[in-house]
Amino acid sequence: MRTPLVIANWKMFGTLAEARPLATGVRDGLKRFKGVDVVLCPPYTALMAVGEILQGTPIGLGAQNCHYEASGAHTGEIAPPMLVELGCRSVLIGHSERRREMGETDELVNRKVHGALAHGLTPVLCVGETAEERRQGLTFTTVEGQLRAGLAGLDAAAVGRLVVAYEPVWAIGTGVNATPQQAAEVHGYVRGLVSELASKEVAQGLRVLYGGSVKADSADALLAESEIDGALVGGASLNAQGFVSIVKKAARGAATRGE
Ligand code: PEP
Repeated sequence: MRTPLVIANWKMFGTLAEARPLATGVRDGLKRFKGVDVVLCPPYTALMAVGEILQGTPIGLGAQNCHYEASGAHTGEIAPPMLVELGCRSVLIGHSERRREMGETDELVNRKVHGALAHGLTPVLCVGETAEERRQGLTFTTVEGQLRAGLAGLDAAAVGRLVVAYEPVWAIGTGVNATPQQAAEVHGYVRGLVSELASKEVAQGLRVLYGGSVKADSADALLAESEIDGALVGGASLNAQGFVSIVKKAARGAATRGE
């Protein structure tokens, strides 16, 4: 069965003075807690400090982005081996804020997926439609395009090393989350497409997370859906207690579903 996964995306929040107590709060809140994989993605500047705090715990360290090359003349960029050296095991790729604000295209996202995999990082490939696309009935078309492009050139085994995060753009940071049914419908679609693009086995093992205004009080219903394998949490991950409570709900969701 798929172990639930909850990832904290701190975005551009967290000076060292803020990141250290936040990571410590999550670590202490999850002491002796089992049944859910947890990853914290602080800003680059806090990776080392947060990594030290998480050392010896099962909580993983992840980055919010990476370049696709291992090194090179790319001022201001961070390469996958640099993340690995700091203890990162995962990296968010294609977050809608990067697609929108930094002009990341599907092609660039695909190169980053390849670059991350080449260095042993788990890419968390983010996909999702805008409000306008949903209004126009283009949700599946958008998600299909992003997935096909993001996974291009990967064999089934490589696809099996990814995590996919369905993050409807209209739900990110808006306080309006997708309903459990809306999310489950897209997650089922993602799994069906991955089954076609890779294999049925890979699709069955693939963790598809939901992201978009997940809070402690909306997490129960979302995480009770069998298609939702966990959450990518932005704003609510900046509060240790709130985030810990979402992680615990992910465990309860899995238990309810008999996993
Ligand atoms: C995100 O940034 O991935 C996200 C889901 O943000 P929020 O939870 O704040 O909507």
